[in-house]
Amino acid sequence: MSGQQEKTFYLETFGCQMNVHDSEKVIGTLVHQGYRQVETVEEAHLVLYNTCSIRDKAEQKVFHRLNDYKKLQAQGKKFGVLGCVAQQEGEKIFEKAPYVSLVAGSASYRNLPAMLIQIGAGNKRVTGLDDRETDLTFETDFTARTNPHRGYITIIEGCDKFCAYCVVPYTRGKERSRTSDSVLAEARQMADLGYTEIQLLGQNVNAFADPLGKKTFAELLYAIGEIPGTRRVRFTTSHPRHFSKDIVDAIVASPRLCDHIHLPVQSGSSRVLKAMNREYTREMYLEKIAWIRSAAKEISLTTDMIVGFPGETEAEFEETVTLLHEGQFDGVFTFKYSPRPNTPALSMIDSIADAEKSKRLQILQERQREVQRANYEKRVGQILEVMVEGKNEARGQIIGRTSQNITLNFTVPENVTPAMGSYVNVLVTRSFPNSLVGEMA
Ligand code: SF4
Repeated sequence: MSGQQEKTFYLETFGCQMNVHDSEKVIGTLVHQGYRQVETVEEAHLVLYNTCSIRDKAEQKVFHRLNDYKKLQAQGKKFGVLGCVAQQEGEKIFEKAPYVSLVAGSASYRNLPAMLIQIGAGNKRVTGLDDRETDLTFETDFTARTNPHRGYITIIEGCDKFCAYCVVPYTRGKERSRTSDSVLAEARQMADLGYTEIQLLGQNVNAFADPLGKKTFAELLYAIGEIPGTRRVRFTTSHPRHFSKDIVDAIVASPRLCDHIHLPVQSGSSRVLKAMNREYTREMYLEKIAWIRSAAKEISLTTDMIVGFPGETEAEFEETVTLLHEGQFDGVFTFKYSPRPNTPALSMIDSIADAEKSKRLQILQERQREVQRANYEKRVGQILEVMVEGKNEARGQIIGRTSQNITLNFTVPENVTPAMGSYVNVLVTRSFPNSLVGEMA
């Protein structure tokens, strides 16, 4: 990458919305540095992978991908590994993939311009790793948002909860919030640019603690909903431990706050929850979702569940299954436990055989499908507002998303083409376990 040559980069992103949004910030930063983003590895001088290590599979994928591109090193391309696998594996990545020149965790991205200069100067191994002590969040003026209607804003980074199975506290550093002033300034800027939906992000978004003490999380939600031009406000992911009733009250009071809460429970057994270090019991979780269920508005609830955590008995698994029915979730992301590096659960015996984990996963998914089928069916006949997200040409349907975060595909009268990002009322005519179908009302 000499000064004369056009600088191009290719960036591939794995993992969660936090990573997707970090990538938008990385792209903005690189473009500001004079780089041009390209669509293929072949065209790029710099190839970056923003990685995820939440599950073993995701991590393996990164190394497979790096392996695929090994041959391209002869063409003088530079490779960089960003994100959670970078932070977790650190300099070991250089040993596994010696053609990689940059290994950087998310807390170091603000130093990317300086790191790229080092690579340009011929430095073969540049690292930017977090020592968990940083107080800085990854804020930048150069975010390159990919969707012109819906934009993410990170309000809190890192995690201090140390759930026994989770790598995040080791890969994303300690919990640190932005000021509500800076979040609101970014949200106003986005509304001025035409973004109508704002999604607030954080590993524990509702653990947000304004460093200046001006606003609670619920007050921040409310304030964003008040910004002219904003039509939808979402937030993810919430931790039950910090989930307070004022969040539900804010959703009820502000029509612009979406009627959806994602509240990961992980297990229906208090004994397993304790072993997971989740710091709440089944009863406490049920108490919190009772606020949602008794709200003066129908708020959709989704969750995450892990099966096969070390020592989970059949009876404890059954408690997770019964929670599906008590929770009446509109969606459940289900996972098989897998041991992750550095985590406390590594010292526990991974006692449940993989076949048994698969069986439990299947049972959970089947039961949830029944719950969802019944829940979604109740929406037939309702008129729901959707944001237009795309088109399914093969089916002749427009793809929309409701405030409750449900996919609602719909047909439109001839010669009507709703614009991407516009809002349309749709009459629900059919339901499936994972989506709704309707026609423009
Ligand atoms: S709260 Fe637990 S599961 Fe969530 S990011 Fe933190 S450690 Fe991981």
